[in-house]
Amino acid sequence: MAGLEFVSERNNPAQWTRPFGWSRARLSPVRHVIALDVGGTGMKAALVGTDGTLLHEARRATGRERGPEAVVETILGFAEDLRALGQERYGEPAAAAGVAVPGIVDAENGIAVYAANLGWRDVPMRELLSARLDGVPVALGHDVRTGGLAEGRIGAGNGADRFLFVPLGTGIAGAIGIGDRIEAGAHGYAGEIGHIVVRPGGTDCGCGQRGCLERYASASAVSLAWAEASGDPGADAADCAKAVESGDPTAVRVWQDAVDALADGLVTALTLLDPRTLIIGGGLAEAGETLFTPLRAAVEERVTFQKLPAIVPAALGDTAGCLGAGLLAWDLLAAQHPTDSEVSA
Ligand SMILES: [Zn+2]
Repeated sequence: MAGLEFVSERNNPAQWTRPFGWSRARLSPVRHVIALDVGGTGMKAALVGTDGTLLHEARRATGRERGPEAVVETILGFAEDLRALGQERYGEPAAAAGVAVPGIVDAENGIAVYAANLGWRDVPMRELLSARLDGVPVALGHDVRTGGLAEGRIGAGNGADRFLFVPLGTGIAGAIGIGDRIEAGAHGYAGEIGHIVVRPGGTDCGCGQRGCLERYASASAVSLAWAEASGDPGADAADCAKAVESGDPTAVRVWQDAVDALADGLVTALTLLDPRTLIIGGGLAEAGETLFTPLRAAVEERVTFQKLPAIVPAALGDTAGCLGAGLLAWDLLAAQHPTDSEVSA
């Protein structure tokens, strides 16, 4: 496909120079889709080629302080601009679009049901986007599940048929990978591993329970615990990891408490799901082997009959959601035209 010829040239198409013999590539349009990842503060977008290549990347502020209607309009405008850019630069408009949004998502009906941080309720995102993009098919996904899809298929999971993606950030979420898709559950709540109770009767959680995993092993929880233990209110999880690396015994204790809680939660999950690969992402995973070495040991210590999955760091960082949105769009096209084998990116 023509898309392949442009891989190394995506950064500055205005200055493309071609050797003789490339005129065919220049003249043939490049089939692509629009991918959008909507976050609480920023939106990432891309034009993605048939083989998953990022042809063009862009970012815009979400601007949630302007209210939910303005945010929706910003998303629609961003997509519209990308469609125009694709038409101009690649010779045809995007064939489909995928968008990942936070909160509660009804992917089947294309509705962004609720997002506490964006303030919206029941936004018919698929319909609105499709209307703005001249009727092309649009896929809507939940942000963590969409990022998990990308990590499993083209990131750290390396195509694993059964995986669990667990980002450790402000909270802890999860995406359950089965075959080539992510299990959303009957009501869209599957994978919420952060609210597995690992310390019964423990710390209060925003969900109404006590002792939930995310109160012990999220990046925020470790930041809080280390700020208190170190006496420095500005200290965070990254500082704790550094102190662990320099052998500070207080930091080692705080860190191990988080690792133990995380291992308890992960063992519950792997007992239930039997994944081949556990992909750990988010801010806390940036500590690298400072996290992964004790975590693998703590999980191994706890399993009895269960098979140990590979425990690996996420590979795609903050582009996972956007790449996953691109996969959703290509999957949608493949489902609509199953004989069109080129779109199996
Ligand atoms: Zn909870």
